[in-house]
Amino acid sequence: MADDGGALDPDNDGMGSNATTLTRTNRRTAVARAVDATKVYGAGDTAVVALEAITVDIPGRRFTAVMGPSGSGKSTLMHCMAGLDSLTSGQVFLGDVELGSLSDKALTLLRRQRVGFVFQSFNLLPTLTALENITLPAALAGAKPDPGWLDAVIDTVGLADRLHHRPGELSGGQQQRVAMARALASRPEIIFADEPTGNLDSRAGAGLLTFMRHSVEALGQTIVMVTHDPVAAGYADSVLFLADGRLVDSMARPTAERVLDRMKAFGD
Ligand code: ADP
Repeated sequence: MADDGGALDPDNDGMGSNATTLTRTNRRTAVARAVDATKVYGAGDTAVVALEAITVDIPGRRFTAVMGPSGSGKSTLMHCMAGLDSLTSGQVFLGDVELGSLSDKALTLLRRQRVGFVFQSFNLLPTLTALENITLPAALAGAKPDPGWLDAVIDTVGLADRLHHRPGELSGGQQQRVAMARALASRPEIIFADEPTGNLDSRAGAGLLTFMRHSVEALGQTIVMVTHDPVAAGYADSVLFLADGRLVDSMARPTAERVLDRMKAFGD
């Protein structure tokens, strides 16, 4: 079943544009996988098929963007791959662990220990300093972050002089970088980011995206980002395109222009 080619591996040439290419797997490097992932909300006449038999690998140490028109299933795919929601049929894996096989408790532990999240709305605690926010997940898990790693993350964030400020004293871009540092601090195997630049002006957005790229290149992080912004997708190593709950295309080494052209084909 293992295959030597992966359409999402940017070292692999060009665009994958058919179902055969898209379902290829590269299990050597995949950090997360979906296999025939299907999600149906509701039942009977009101049933909505949010995901339809999606099979995809998320390569490690890469920045993957997920794009598609509104309602195409981007958030549902991300939530199911992150263990925040469950599939109707099919499987999602983090490493070798199939999330559907886990108890609620085991799933919570797995999320806490192996997955990082960055949301559009930052989700920082207002009464804690930037540094306290960054180290909070580790504190909750009863772990002490590796000081060398924490220094590297804080260095990468570039907010060393803001660490003792509270979120209310930081700009939107700075707050989002704190949220990104919080996700990185526990060295998760994968970070899922849902429209992380959605509330930022273009300059702050560019700063965050540059930081995300840097964390992939310099820290070896794996990031999956849902976005509707072709400019944001242009920072990724590869882009997955969803339409009507299906994986319809992928693009390696995207540029904003190429992504925009592809999106226009959806009529979005
Ligand atoms: P996107 O993130 O691409 O905008 P979503 O994953 O949010 O798309 O939604 C995919 C489809 O599933 C949409 O038709 C949406 O209306 C539907 N959907 C999402 N969440 C729910 C829910 N909790 N209950 C019912 N339908 C839902």
